[in-house]
Amino acid sequence: MKIINDFNIKKEAEELGISIWQAPSFLFLMMGIVSAVVMIVVYFVSKNYASPEFLIISEFVIVVIILVTGNMIITNMEKLAKINKMKSEFVAIVSHQLKNPLSAISWDIELLIAKYKNNLEQRQLDIIKKINYSNTVMSKLVGDLLDVARIDQGNLFVKNEKFNLEDVIKKVLIKNEPLTKTQNITIGVKSPEVIPPVIGDEKRVEVALDNLVSNAIKYNKKDGTVLIEIKKNKKDLVVCIKDTGIGISESEKERIFDRFYRSEDAIKKETGGTGLGLYIAKNIIEQCGGKMWFNSKKNKGSEFCFSIKLV
Ligand code: ADP
Repeated sequence: MKIINDFNIKKEAEELGISIWQAPSFLFLMMGIVSAVVMIVVYFVSKNYASPEFLIISEFVIVVIILVTGNMIITNMEKLAKINKMKSEFVAIVSHQLKNPLSAISWDIELLIAKYKNNLEQRQLDIIKKINYSNTVMSKLVGDLLDVARIDQGNLFVKNEKFNLEDVIKKVLIKNEPLTKTQNITIGVKSPEVIPPVIGDEKRVEVALDNLVSNAIKYNKKDGTVLIEIKKNKKDLVVCIKDTGIGISESEKERIFDRFYRSEDAIKKETGGTGLGLYIAKNIIEQCGGKMWFNSKKNKGSEFCFSIKLV
């Protein structure tokens, strides 16, 4: 099955944004077919005309075919790698340039509220709150794009510090309180009495956990539940976030950690999202030396887990 998927040339060409004849799998397949055909012809012809010159010339032809097709594959791969690098650099530059003005807007809003709150009407305050909310959403997107560019360029550096997962969970729960209330979700935490400290990048693990918990709330059903469970193994802690939500269909499971991927059900649910959260979360956890995985059943719920090293 994997081999068939690997040779899904149309899908590969679509994903890479190139024509079918430029797809590496197509060129590789052609190289194989042409070489095989030439070899068969050589075999039959040399059987009838046992001439060494003919054999040498045909071997030369095969080598030329392999070299030319191989060169085409390498050229296409180089072109794709260059485009990918340019795209990552472009995203990094644009996101970086957007970060400062967005922070400035946020400070100005804070200043406006702090200084003139008493002189503003409720309607004016409501509008300022809306501006602030949109600004926060945009800042998060810019931050996510910067992280994606860092991951793509291999520059997502993580600290190796000792920290308590308990504190991180508390912060994430407080951050998600408004969303939990609007969706009427009940969140529970199950853990050993003493949670031993772990090693990783505290701020970034908080980002990863926040993505998983906010997803468990966002993609839940109204009045649903979320359970954060911590289990201790010999060398690591395993954290699982289980929800009673929309779940993920079998056909979409393999793409769920891809950048910008959103399931059809998630799009239908009209919850805001970019499809970057899981990609970033998985990369953070892997950079910290852990693993991330999930189990899910459509319409039943999902469970996303990750491991993190003990001190
Ligand atoms: P976003 O939530 O911004 O769309 P993510 O990268 O966090 O992006 O998630 C990617 C997709 O994975 C979501 O759009 C959704 O389709 C699916 N997904 C993630 N978490 C869950 C969950 N707990 N239950 C169901 N689907 C989920």
